[in-house]
Amino acid sequence: MAKLTRLDDIVSLCKRRGFIFQLSEIYGGLAACYDYGPLGVELKRNVRAAWWKAVVQTRDDVLGLDCAILMHPMVWKASGHADKFADLVTVCTQCNTRTRVDHLADGSAAQEHIEHVDIDIEAGKEHNLSNKVCPACGAVGQFTKPMAFRLMFETQMGANADDTMKVFLRPETAQGIFVNFRNVLDSSRVKIPFGIAQIGKSFRNEVTTKAFIFRTREFEQAELEFFCKPGTDEEWYAHWKEQRFNWYLNLGIKKENLRFRDHEPDELAHYAKACVDVEYKFPFGSGDWQELEGIANRTDFDLRQHQRGIRTMNDWYAQKGDLSKITLREEAEDYFKGPLSYFDEETRQRYIPYVIEPSAGVDRSTLAFLVDAYDEDEVNGETRNVLRFHPHLAPIKAAIFPLVKKDGLPEIARNLYNDLKTQFQCFYDEKGAIGRRYRRQDEAGTPYCMTIDGQTKEDGTVTVRDRDSLQQTRMPLDQVKNFLRDKLEL
Ligand code: ATP
Repeated sequence: MAKLTRLDDIVSLCKRRGFIFQLSEIYGGLAACYDYGPLGVELKRNVRAAWWKAVVQTRDDVLGLDCAILMHPMVWKASGHADKFADLVTVCTQCNTRTRVDHLADGSAAQEHIEHVDIDIEAGKEHNLSNKVCPACGAVGQFTKPMAFRLMFETQMGANADDTMKVFLRPETAQGIFVNFRNVLDSSRVKIPFGIAQIGKSFRNEVTTKAFIFRTREFEQAELEFFCKPGTDEEWYAHWKEQRFNWYLNLGIKKENLRFRDHEPDELAHYAKACVDVEYKFPFGSGDWQELEGIANRTDFDLRQHQRGIRTMNDWYAQKGDLSKITLREEAEDYFKGPLSYFDEETRQRYIPYVIEPSAGVDRSTLAFLVDAYDEDEVNGETRNVLRFHPHLAPIKAAIFPLVKKDGLPEIARNLYNDLKTQFQCFYDEKGAIGRRYRRQDEAGTPYCMTIDGQTKEDGTVTVRDRDSLQQTRMPLDQVKNFLRDKLEL
């Protein structure tokens, strides 16, 4: 089975077929920022929809949320991002390239597994880089002392110079869920165990930027915070691990390209009880296996931190919002009775829920689905490029063609197209040889092509061509809609 093995090939396929473009390309682009083209936007919408369907729609115990990107600055003080969300970076003294310390290989194994969190920005960290190799020029051990590089984008809010406030573009969607925990609880009559899910944009001023949409500065996350009773957390962790792994497989990712990687104890954030990455074997980059999604048992850390944040608000006012001058207050002694606690009516107990967090990247999974779907085969002695997307993910579900542009065939084809497009993303094409039109749809990953020909006028049937088996079957025009509905399980 053919694979896309070079990043350049993937980038050029994405551009050629209108999946992904360099952002503001006519002005030379902007590093690590991309736009989705006509096919890409459909693919990504379908990835989002598939996640929402699996995590929210088809479950009784998960609710959705859509929070603003700008949040109260204290959110980031309480979450730890304001003080600790940074990468340690170093500069190669030979070629001036800046690299994340945890991305430096030491000649033996490339590693890309250290999380962003928990770097003490003020203190920095001592690192021995004498055996490390510069990924750009290959020089060994020629690095500056590591420095903390803040990842959150800052901006100003407010029109007047004296009352502007520094705010941040969120670096993750999760915090919007934690700060709305009480709102959702009070408005939805849900009981623990339950989850709150959100899909949305996040922003990180990433240091490493040469990985196409795998690592971008503006990206989309699909995150679930699943709240459960302490003591049941391990069960729920196992449950979500399984659910999330199967989600990728059910949408067509090949089993041999997907694996779990448990975090080592020294890699875990101090508050996390367990964390595992779902990794995909990308056919490019350092070390092949790369994170698509992290699943963590975050204990009661986040809700407790926000209770501390609420207690610190007066200091925030007193310091006029200067986060660097504020120290987060200690928890109240009876923290388990605080505003973000939960009262369990059955056991008459109050506690701070534990949180299981599956956190996926929409762009990273879109890239994985695209790379995994790519195939080449031989049809009539010619090489065919085909994207074998799962029908739920395929950007276009059906293409409708008149065999020739005369004899009333275009009119019949247009009618069918107009009928189908109200329910499915369809494409109409009457130009060029039929073989060429099929090929273009194969390259776009369209699972079905419907062709109207002379026989249609005689018996009202249409040819349906299957992208994968290449089989052509005839069916009555008025059955096409049901056929698609069945195949796409809509
Ligand atoms: P990495 O170590 O690769 O930088 P991370 O462990 O910091 O990622 P998380 O904070 O766990 O990532 O974010 C959850 C998910 O969000 C990741 O698994 C990934 O799919 C996605 N994600 C994070 N950063 C980016 C980015 N810069 N570009 C695209 N997707 C991202």
